[in-house]
Amino acid sequence: MELDKMDENDWKYHGEGNKSLVVSHVQLSRVLRLLKYPAEDSENPPQTVEQAFRQIQNIVDFSSNVMSSLLGEKFIHSGEVVKLPLEFVRQLSIKVQHQRPAWRCEKVMDIYSGCALCLPNLTSPALHQPTHTPPLCIEIKPKCGFLPSSKHVSKDIKTKVCRFCMHQHYKVAGGKWKRRSLYCPLDLFSGNRQRMHFAIRHLIEEPQNNLKIFKGGQCIYSSKEGSDDAMDLTSLLHHLRPYFQHGNIRINSHMTSKAVLNDFIQVLVNALLSGGGGGDGGVVTDRQGEGRSFCEASVFNKERIRHGSQGLPSDSVLFRTLQTQMLDTLDIEGLYPLFRRVEQHLQDFPKERTRLQMDGPYNEAFLEKLQKCPTEDDGSVEYAVAKVHQYRVAMTAKDCSIMVTLVPRSEEEEDDEGLSSQRWLRDFLSSRPPAFSYSVSILDLDPKPFDSIPRQLRLDQKIVSCYLRTGGALP
Ligand code: ATP
Ligand code: MG
Ligand code: ZN
Ligand code: MG
Repeated sequence: MELDKMDENDWKYHGEGNKSLVVSHVQLSRVLRLLKYPAEDSENPPQTVEQAFRQIQNIVDFSSNVMSSLLGEKFIHSGEVVKLPLEFVRQLSIKVQHQRPAWRCEKVMDIYSGCALCLPNLTSPALHQPTHTPPLCIEIKPKCGFLPSSKHVSKDIKTKVCRFCMHQHYKVAGGKWKRRSLYCPLDLFSGNRQRMHFAIRHLIEEPQNNLKIFKGGQCIYSSKEGSDDAMDLTSLLHHLRPYFQHGNIRINSHMTSKAVLNDFIQVLVNALLSGGGGGDGGVVTDRQGEGRSFCEASVFNKERIRHGSQGLPSDSVLFRTLQTQMLDTLDIEGLYPLFRRVEQHLQDFPKERTRLQMDGPYNEAFLEKLQKCPTEDDGSVEYAVAKVHQYRVAMTAKDCSIMVTLVPRSEEEEDDEGLSSQRWLRDFLSSRPPAFSYSVSILDLDPKPFDSIPRQLRLDQKIVSCYLRTGGALP
């Protein structure tokens, strides 16, 4: 990829979130992640080229120096900042515009700075050979996997019903989505296979922006426009079937859809409980469960299948993500007064903003500040800053995505003349899903701005009061 010879025809629309738009290269396993601005600023970029460059460099630093040390290096790809020719970026923005979902178009792609983040394309790994069955890639945005136990929590409901489940009521009430998702993050993070299976089944039923499935780098399943119904489950099953009917095809010509879906979910659960890469992940159970790990709003819980958490293996992506989320020890209600302490201090001593690293740089010293936080509040600004830093890191971990890439074992290994009768027998007798090699990554690890904390408190209050007004009463 030569940066001075970029051609928009080599790139295509790949996806987008709230803050960035992503394009993928048609041949290389590469993506470019470009910033987005609110559409009303489109004539007038809200920041200079230098500021845009700094913002993306901050994302790289935060990911590689802070999040990677907390989440585990093996899961992280931080990428690098690139400067692109402006003409290329303009042509690209025109090219992708018609493919963007309408509900995302209240923001426009940054065409002024020419700055972007270049990352490996996790949905289409380099090793994949075009002659083989394309890899599957499952992206899950799990959200917060624990209930707050902070003494600062003022509403009892927050210690019983998880944030995601309460937020669902708020989003449906506000018209953001038509239907409530029955996914509960506490089920996914439980480490109990049955609960995890249940969680993923509900993600598939109502993906919203918490699930996307890619095949050979192409998105084949996600929520459609805003509040519309999810993409067709039948078409997803059509895509998945060839990956899962190995062996069985010789006995039953047709696996039931339910069996295909079950096998798919089982493979995904295995990958999420594994150490993150390679073949079969051995499942070590390192108990992590302290405090409540059931959410009362989860339908699973209502069914009263209380198996208790088997615990997450300590080297699994879910364990590391949950641990990082749990750096939010005070809850927004306990954190807010500390935010105010820092804010007041910065008003009195504006130059302190740099020393306290409120907007970076995100380096070793930043990590140290948040890791060496005293356990008790000594009234100092240092304590408040450390808690604010911890909270922001936890926010990032509550908002990231987990990407599981499944590469089917090559045809020679699995099929054709090379297939020994023994192997076939094993598949048949154990009826286990076929083997994939897989890799697990975490993406979308942007630092959350210091100034967004008051908004977090207001949102929390709105969600809780909406739930108390409407939610608890609904089935
Ligand atoms: P959010 O609204 O969740 O904060 P965002 O605006 O920060 O999202 P990302 O989540 O980083 O943006 O990227 C948007 C989408 O682009 C992702 O959901 C994912 O599908 C895709 N994507 C991002 N990075 C990669 C990558 N390295 N490889 C493949 N796909 C990617
Ligand atoms: Mg995202
Ligand atoms: Zn829940
Ligand atoms: Mg993001």
